[in-house]
Amino acid sequence: MRYTHIMSTETFEFQVEARQLLQLMIHSVYSNKDVFLRELVSNASDALDKLRLAALRDDTLDADVSDLHIDIETDTDARTLTVRDNGIGMSYDEVGRLIGTIANSGTAKFVQELREAQDEAGAEGLIGQFGVGFYSGFMVADEMTLLTRKAGEGQGTRWSSRGEGTYTLERVDDAPQGTTVTLHLKPADSDDQLHDYTSDWTIREIVKRYSDFITWPIRMIPKAAAAGDAPEGSEDEAGAAREPETLNSMKALWARSREDVSDDEYHELYKHISHDWREPLETVRLQAEGTFEYQALLFVPSHAPHDLYNQGYKRGVQLYVKRVFIMDDCEALLPPYLRFVKGVVDAADLSLNVSREILQQDRHIRMMQRRLTKKVVSTVKDMMTAAPERYATFWREFGAVLKEGLLTDSDNRDTLLAVSSFATTHSEDEPTTLKSYVERMKDGQDAVYYLTGESRQSIENSPHMEAFRAKGIEVLLLTDPVDEVWVDAVGEFEGKPLRSVAKGEVDLGGTDDEKAEGEREKQGEEYADLLGWMKERLDDDVKEVRLSSRLTVSPACIVSDAHDLTPALENMYRAMGQEVPRARRILELNPDHVLVKGLNQAYREREDRTGLAETAELLHGLAVLAEGGRPKEPGRFVKLVADHLERAL
Ligand code: ADP
Repeated sequence: MRYTHIMSTETFEFQVEARQLLQLMIHSVYSNKDVFLRELVSNASDALDKLRLAALRDDTLDADVSDLHIDIETDTDARTLTVRDNGIGMSYDEVGRLIGTIANSGTAKFVQELREAQDEAGAEGLIGQFGVGFYSGFMVADEMTLLTRKAGEGQGTRWSSRGEGTYTLERVDDAPQGTTVTLHLKPADSDDQLHDYTSDWTIREIVKRYSDFITWPIRMIPKAAAAGDAPEGSEDEAGAAREPETLNSMKALWARSREDVSDDEYHELYKHISHDWREPLETVRLQAEGTFEYQALLFVPSHAPHDLYNQGYKRGVQLYVKRVFIMDDCEALLPPYLRFVKGVVDAADLSLNVSREILQQDRHIRMMQRRLTKKVVSTVKDMMTAAPERYATFWREFGAVLKEGLLTDSDNRDTLLAVSSFATTHSEDEPTTLKSYVERMKDGQDAVYYLTGESRQSIENSPHMEAFRAKGIEVLLLTDPVDEVWVDAVGEFEGKPLRSVAKGEVDLGGTDDEKAEGEREKQGEEYADLLGWMKERLDDDVKEVRLSSRLTVSPACIVSDAHDLTPALENMYRAMGQEVPRARRILELNPDHVLVKGLNQAYREREDRTGLAETAELLHGLAVLAEGGRPKEPGRFVKLVADHLERAL
């Protein structure tokens, strides 16, 4: 075919990241090169979906939607492979923007990791992890050309590149509707892993394996048997007129019964939808019959995407209405705490013109959301017993997101609590469920104890843990930011209160004997004056100074009241720009510590208490530091410490 050029060709440089990625593709470290075809077919299928939808919404659109399909054409002599769709196409600007750059989220991070991954195995893993759509063609081609015309526009665009530093763009007068991608294949002997992509047999195999479920026909006109194709012989009679053959079954996987679909087929659909090249962790099927009929095929990925916590993260599943694609990223069907779930929902009774705004308010959609949410959560629950290793992977990747549901989804709170697991002092590496924690609780223990903090290590070193460690009482170690908030909202598990070891009075119920009780009372009297005096000195910062029953080795610690914000939460609110009053908290002293004993003795003996006031201030500063806080005036604190050290020399 020939096209008239009405403008000269312009040459552009690839964006740096794109160039690096292309280098990798050309030097083809990814061993399964066949997947390039899956990627091109996937793009073509999306383009057909988009055109059908555009035509539905705008009946003045000048586009032919009577025979939407994908063609694959190969030429053995010219060594080319062509994938053509008559879908939505791209404008000149879109080609430059979409094909000249890599806009995919996480790409900057990807490219950086790529640079760091020196070896090929590392790079291969990374490609699989991020997926690279269109560019994967350069694994098998030394030149790619894309000719496209956007539906409704008169003029087309030709993009061409050898994948090195540059690409060319030119406007073309009479391009057909849609997009044609032509690969000039690398020499057959350039790589042992390269299959013969000009063979009908190879193409059939690859399409069947990776793209069978595509709902549009993928067609190919078989070559004559005489052309030396097809290892196992072709049905073609040499010279007979050849009809196009449809290579895929086109059956929507979600509408087929479970027994008819292999796991591999489900996995390929997942890859098509998610642009992830790895297998999903779990497939969730749901078929709802009755007045509001729908089918859902959902996937839990095996890895959390890099942008899961970003503001702009695109969440949601694909929405179809009776096999017709309606939208990507439909948020209304799943709550934000299941934002990692990918998949398809096909509803029978929605209007094809349904908008996001309408979906948000639709009663049926809310019912679907409830049902889908329950189904996903119960799948996680089943995984716990049926596939503990997969559950462990799930929890490592998505536990922190799922716990957001403890705050926001009171309907499923109990199940979510049941499927949650937490790091614990009981085991170095195995997290525990709340149920197992409760089973291990000591006689007389009436609460589930936890402590929040930045890391396991910082929590374990906290003075608040001392008495619990000494008494062998298990404490959950909560290190996700969301832990700071859900514990208060949830409050209890199966009637057992969740209690922070850094809050309130510690009463390690019944574990103290009579003698200790009596001794505590005596100590209380001995220290009463010192405590009162210290409270006066530190009045700006603390609301109470009292003796502690939670310390064994540290001299002092800071404690909150049950309803106070933790220091981490205070910081979080401040970071979000909210005003938070500086909380006055409780200072607890360890009456068995030499420093505290000495202070008390000096207090009782001395008239001049200037030096003692400094010691009181230091004790308070140390307690603040120990819980990961910051003394109010770090400079002054450092000076006091230095002075005291000097005097001790
Ligand atoms: P991805 O498909 O992961 O977004 P690609 O590099 O494969 O990444 O494609 C980038 C974009 O180029 C697509 O999102 C799409 O907008 C556009 N595109 C690619 N192929 C086609 C096609 N055949 N028809 C229309 N647009 C396409």
